[in-house]
Amino acid sequence: MNIHEYQAKALLRSYGAPVSDGRVVLRADEAKTAAGELDGPLWVVKAQIHAGGRGKGHFKEAEAGEKGGVRLARSVEEAAQMAHQMLGRTLVTHQTGPHGKVVNRIYIEDGSDIAKEFYLALLIDRQTSRISIVCSTEGGMDIEEVAAHTPEKILSFSVDPATGLQGFHGRRVAFALGLEGKQVGKCVDLLSKLYKCFVEKDAEMLEINPLILMPSGDLKCLDAKMGFDGNAMYRHADIAALRDETEEDPKELAASKFDLNYIALDGEIGCMVNGAGLAMATMDIIKLYGAEPANFLDVGGGATKEKVTEAFKIITSDPNVKGILVNIFGGIMRCDVIAEGVIAAVKEVGLKVPLVVRLEGTNVEKGKEIIQNSGLNVIAGDNLSDAAQKIVKAVKG
Ligand code: GDP
Ligand code: MG
Repeated sequence: MNIHEYQAKALLRSYGAPVSDGRVVLRADEAKTAAGELDGPLWVVKAQIHAGGRGKGHFKEAEAGEKGGVRLARSVEEAAQMAHQMLGRTLVTHQTGPHGKVVNRIYIEDGSDIAKEFYLALLIDRQTSRISIVCSTEGGMDIEEVAAHTPEKILSFSVDPATGLQGFHGRRVAFALGLEGKQVGKCVDLLSKLYKCFVEKDAEMLEINPLILMPSGDLKCLDAKMGFDGNAMYRHADIAALRDETEEDPKELAASKFDLNYIALDGEIGCMVNGAGLAMATMDIIKLYGAEPANFLDVGGGATKEKVTEAFKIITSDPNVKGILVNIFGGIMRCDVIAEGVIAAVKEVGLKVPLVVRLEGTNVEKGKEIIQNSGLNVIAGDNLSDAAQKIVKAVKG
């Protein structure tokens, strides 16, 4: 689960990490008051979307010379005007994809003077099963670009969970960033606060880009991107409350409401499968026969007819879906329940694309009978490979 920059900064502030003073604005008419509460003489007006690269991004239908989603203002009036301009528009960045994201919230911040911009991130490293610290002197830039062209400018190391974060970790970061004197201690202090926040809140990712060194010699987190382990949200009501559903894929949101494990992908074949392993195998075999899956979907072991109906509706609501493959191995799940769910869903939403169904296991004969007697134009698959070939053929011709 991801949160907005202003929410991440509030969280970091509560851990004592240095961030600018700022105000979030949901309506244009709040902007002037909000900006007026900040000191100036520089204001930063920042579009809040769950994506990076806002500064270098552009708005749809932008006027000539119009700037991106992070702008500097020299007066309260200018800041308010910028907020007014950005609210409700669609911001496109290299992370949003060409569709962009609608800006519903603006963060107005006290502007900072920058001497240097660094990169600092904490993340879960799946390879070492540890928290990794990544830093670079090349801050404010796209870290993927730095990694591609000058990987030697990135330092990355992991922290042993048995000892936790130690002073030397912070000093290692400080020296890599070229910090000196008192700045080193400030860096050690900052890292310990970020690490504490990361661990206590079950974060998966915390990216500060840029972390800045100010002319005063102080460090500050000028941007903050945070993601959390969704499975840990039951024990973090405060973080769960920060969820902004408008930022999520509507199909994934609907799936989460019905407790379906659904991940939207960008292929053309919708998949409805029971069991995560079989769902992955189904995606693999679709690719093997030359097509791309439109989603990952595990309807689970004990799915009801209603749940299957919802799953089917979610799959068909994706305009990219050109065909559907239902692949069920009935163990706990009964094939007749799946069949009834599919029929009910098709009757409700209609079937505009080819549908291949492969059923195996508990009550398979009953399931096949229900589908055959439904009068629907369903293609039966004999086994996984046969079913995959049939749906790919139906879609690709
Ligand atoms: P991103 O483009 O989504 O990563 O948004 P950031 O919050 O990182 O802002 C983009 C860039 O705007 C930063 O790299 C800075 O160069 C600049 N910027 C952001 N805040 C300030 C500020 O307080 N003062 C100044 N001078 N520049 C800022
Ligand atoms: Mg940034």
